[in-house]
This record gives sequence, C-alpha cells and structure tokens, in this order.
Amino acid sequence: MNNQHALLQTALDFALRNPHSDFYRRKFGASWEQYFGKPIEDIPFLVRKEIDDAPIFERTFVPREMVRFIRSTSGSSGKHVIGFPMLEEGLYQEFLRSIGYTHTPGQLSRYFEPYFTQMNIRSMLLFSAGAFVHEARVRDMEGRQCIAGEFSQPKLTAQLGTEAAVDAIVGNPSGLVDFAPHMRAAGGHTGVRLIISVGERPTALQFETLETSFPNAKIALQYGLTESQGYVGYTCPEKLSVDPKALHLAEGTLFMELIDPDTEAVLPLQPGTEGEVVITTHEPQGFPLIRYRTGDFARIREESCSCTGSPLLFECMGRLELDRVRVPKGMLTIAAIEHAIFGFGGVREFEAKWNTDGGLPRLEISLYMEHRYAAEHVMADELASRIRIAPTVTYKTIVDEGRALPLSVTILPPEQWVGWKKKKRLR
Ligand SMILES: [Zn+2]
Repeated sequence: MNNQHALLQTALDFALRNPHSDFYRRKFGASWEQYFGKPIEDIPFLVRKEIDDAPIFERTFVPREMVRFIRSTSGSSGKHVIGFPMLEEGLYQEFLRSIGYTHTPGQLSRYFEPYFTQMNIRSMLLFSAGAFVHEARVRDMEGRQCIAGEFSQPKLTAQLGTEAAVDAIVGNPSGLVDFAPHMRAAGGHTGVRLIISVGERPTALQFETLETSFPNAKIALQYGLTESQGYVGYTCPEKLSVDPKALHLAEGTLFMELIDPDTEAVLPLQPGTEGEVVITTHEPQGFPLIRYRTGDFARIREESCSCTGSPLLFECMGRLELDRVRVPKGMLTIAAIEHAIFGFGGVREFEAKWNTDGGLPRLEISLYMEHRYAAEHVMADELASRIRIAPTVTYKTIVDEGRALPLSVTILPPEQWVGWKKKKRLR
C-alpha cells in the first residue's frame, strides 16, 4: 500500500469533482479543494448517518441511467435499512474506461474469485439476503450456473439446489445455518464443496454447524458491507481448510485504516493492532467511500501470507454497536460476558440482550447448552457477579444499587438450536 497517497488523490478527485453529486463538496464545505494533497489523517471521516440523511440520488456519483439496481442494506449490523445504488458490471467497466480509470493491482472485490477458479465451481446457490456483494455483477460469471436462493422458501430452494447439484452456496451465516437442515433433508448437502459466508462474522457455533451440515465443504468468509459495494476482506484461498478466519484485504478496490474508535487516532497496521475498520474506495463506485467508519472491529494477524493476496492478514472481531453497550457505571461488552460464561461446562453459544423496555433495564442472556443446568437462578447470580462492566464494577453491583434488574438466564437445549439468529449480539 505504498502508493496509498496517489490512490487517495484518485478517490478524492472522483468524490469531490463529481458532476453528478455534490455530496462530498457539501460535506467538506466551501474550501473543499484544500483537501487535495493532504495526508489521509487530515481528511474528515464519513459516518453512516451522513449517508442515511442524503436522498438516494445524491448518493449516486454516476449518470442516473447507469443505476440498474437499487438494493437495500441488510440490517444485520443493527443499523436501519437504506437503499443503495448498484451498477451493472458491463456498464460499470465501460464507465471506468470512459473516465480513464486504470485498475490498480491487487484483489478486486467483485467476485467470489479466487475460490471458484481454484475449486472449479460450476454451479452455485446464491442467497441475496445479508450484507452482500453485487448480485448484478455476479450474473456475469461466465459459464457458471446460478440458482437464486430464497431464505423464506427453504424447502423449495433446497430442492432446486439439489436438483441442480450445486457445488457452492453463498449467503449470510445466520441464514445459511437456518437453511442447512433443509439442504440435508433434500440430500444435496454432500455435493456442496464450498460455502461462502458473506457479510457479518459467523459465530463459533454457526461456523461449527456449517462444517457439520456440509461435511465435504470448505468454508470461506467474505467480510463486507453493502456500503462498500463489494467485500473488504476474504479468506486466504490457501488457508481455506486450516485457517478460514485469516482474511486478505481486497486492496485492488479499497484501502483500510484502523482507528481507535474513541480518540479517532489512526493506528499502525502492525501485527496485533486492533481497531475500528475505516475504508476508502479508491476505485470509483456508484457511491465512493472516503474514510468511512464501518463500526466493525478488526485485528491484524501476527503472521503475513506469501500467496498472491495482500501480505497483510486480518481477522474480524465484531461490530461495535452490537458488541458493546453503555450501561450504568460502565460498558457492557460481549467479551466480558463471554469471559464470565467461560467455565460453565456445556455452554456452546450464547446471546445477550440489554433490555431497556419499560422501567429499569435488564441484561437477558440465553445459553445454548448441551444439558439443562440444574439451577438456573444460581447460575444467574454467579454470572452477575462475574460480568465486569468497569474495573471494580460488576453487573451485580448495578443490580445491588438499584440501577438494573437482576440478570435473567434462559437455557436453550439442543432441540431449540435450529433457527437461531445472530447469537452473541448485544442489542
Ligand atoms: Zn494468502
């Protein structure tokens, strides 16, 4: 990423001198031209609210007739859903040529490559739900068959997929987990060689369920969000079987920064660094992102990779707004709850809800357990005294002080595990 400065200028040029939208000119103010040539740290951040507040055609930086496709964001991040302009691949490439744009080297975020080539995938079942890459562009994949999956019609979709002998399935993790039993019932699960989980990060249990449900499949992760109009990171194709959580950056299309979410300080992209993902799309897009704060957390891996992807590997850690919430006297985090739960034998997964409906707030935890725990209230008391929300404050402290209701714990036995949604999420 040593030509990052040059790429940033390309991105600024497209965003600020754009004849079709004045979004960034308005955002940057009357002296918007001063930002050219400045280092990236001096460029203002973009947050989701600013996108939400702009009507869709002010979010469109290409001639309107190029927008053949408007899709909504998935809502899986907990943010409210908005429409987003998407471009058809052929027209889009023509547009890039017409403005003299030259692709930079590096993995593009357009397709499910490189797995498809490497694994000779011929037929795929594609769910459009979830934070997904361009459906319209995907249809250009030469010679490959694509079955359109519908999560609300799982039986029919499983039948179609089985009859078409699909060898790859693409969808968001919670949807795929719900769909898996139907594919098993239809008998098509053993033919599946590749599962691509797109959008949000799958939990450990979701991951394991996919592995069990599709015994012959490798699982690849493609981390992205609708706003990025493609994926940001993808599982190293050489590590599919051994380390699918190690992601390369789609650096041919965008670059990534990590920042401290509280101070907004830029963190060095060094092994072990953890921070909020900020992306800038240096390839012109329907809606270009300049320093977009994703709300997602990532950590740079200690090891690098020598395959053709970006040398840097990173791992997604979860979404800020979902994985932490401000509570009386401190911050409740998924990590703290997980830490408190760790040690109770048989807990496979959990979900947590910070319920603020009505009077006093309450933390509600559901535990996915192999065996029903003998005394749920004993467990709740013990958990409450273990969940730390500040160095000397636990959940029990705020209950004792009358600032929250006692912790509620629900045990979910295995027969209730099918059909769960988005575990480990704080809402
Ligand atoms: Zn690699």
